[in-house]
Amino acid sequence: MGRLVIGYWDCPYCDTKGIRGDKSVCPNCGQRRGHVRFYLKGNAQNQELREKDTKDLEYVLQEKEKYVNRNPDWYCSFCETLNSDNAETCQGCGASRSQSDKNYFQMLEHLKELEQAQAQPVSAAPAKRSKLPLVLIAAALLIVGFFLFMNGKVTSGDYEISGVRWERSIQISQNRLYHETGWSVPPGASVTGQKSEIHHYDQVVDHYEDREVQRSRQVIDGYETYYTYTDLGNGMFDQVAHQRPIYKTEYYTVTEQRPVYVQVPRYQTKYQYDIWRWTPSRTADAEGDDQFPYWPETNLQSDEREEERTEAYFVDILNTKKNETARYRVSPTDWTLLVPGSPVYITTNRFGADPCISDENGIPLVQLNNY
Ligand SMILES: [Zn+2]
Ligand SMILES: [Zn+2]
Repeated sequence: MGRLVIGYWDCPYCDTKGIRGDKSVCPNCGQRRGHVRFYLKGNAQNQELREKDTKDLEYVLQEKEKYVNRNPDWYCSFCETLNSDNAETCQGCGASRSQSDKNYFQMLEHLKELEQAQAQPVSAAPAKRSKLPLVLIAAALLIVGFFLFMNGKVTSGDYEISGVRWERSIQISQNRLYHETGWSVPPGASVTGQKSEIHHYDQVVDHYEDREVQRSRQVIDGYETYYTYTDLGNGMFDQVAHQRPIYKTEYYTVTEQRPVYVQVPRYQTKYQYDIWRWTPSRTADAEGDDQFPYWPETNLQSDEREEERTEAYFVDILNTKKNETARYRVSPTDWTLLVPGSPVYITTNRFGADPCISDENGIPLVQLNNY
C-alpha cells in the first residue's frame, strides 16, 4: 500500500468539472454522485509518473491515511447513488445496503455492457443483388463473337503462281594448323615447347598482429522511481512506487589478433603445341528461278571437307486483280507441287494474314511462310 491521492469527478447533472473525490455531493446543484468515473487531475488514467511530475497531486495527510477506508463505494440500485463503504443505508434514498448488489466497479462494468449492446447493429440488410455479372457476361459474349468473326477465313481465286525459286548452299571447312599454349595438351596436338609459369596465387597467413578494437556495452547507471495509480473506487487513488534501472553506454577497448596475409605464386607447366583444326572457310552456292534444283560443285582441295548443307524454296504469287506479286517461303515437299503459270486459290484470315494455297472451298494445300 502506497500513499493515497485525492481523485476527482464530474457532475453528470449540471456538468460541473473537477469535484474533489472526498465530496459526495455536487457543490453546484446538490446532486449526490452516481454515474461518475473518478480520475486524476491533469493525468491520463494508468499513466506512469516520475517523481518531478507528482507535484500537482494532492495527497491525504500521512497521519490520516490509516483511518481512510480503501474499499470502493457501493451503488444504490434504487436511486443510483454512490455511497461510502462506511454507510449501511443509502445517503440518497435511505434504502438498506443489503438490497443493492453492485459496487463502483461493477456499476462501470454494467454501464459498459449496456453501451456495447446499444452499439450492436439491429440486423444486416440483405445484400442488393448486383446487375453487374449480367453486363460482364454480355461483354464476354460480344468479345468471343468478335474473335470468332475475325478468325473466319477468306478465299479468293484472283491469284496465279508467277514464279518459283530455289537456293542451296554447302558450308566448307579447311584443315588449318594452329600454334597454341595451354596448361594441358589436347588430344592430337604435338608439343613444341614448355616452361614454368605462374598459374595462380594462394593467400597464406604470414604473421599475426595486435590491433586495438573499441567495443561498447550497456551498463546500469542508477535507478529511477516512477509511480502508478490504482482507482480505489471511492474518490481516491492508491499510489504505488516502482523502480527501474537507467542504462548508459560504456566504451572499452580490447586487443585482437588479426592475421596478415601474403600472396604466394603457384607455378605450373605451360605447354606450347601445334594442332590441326577444321575451320569454316567458304561456302559453295547454287540458285535458280526454275523447278530443277541441284547441289553446287564444291571443288574440294585436299585440305578441305564438306560441312552442313542448307536449302530454301520460294514461290511468287501474283494478285491478278491488283497486279501485285508477293514472295513466300514454302517447304521442300510442297515446293515440288507448284507449277508456274497455274491459277490458284489463296485463303487468309479476315486480317489478310496467315495465307495458304487452297482449293476453292478454302481447304489448305500449301502453307505460305513470310519471306
Ligand atoms: Zn451538479
Ligand atoms: Zn438510494
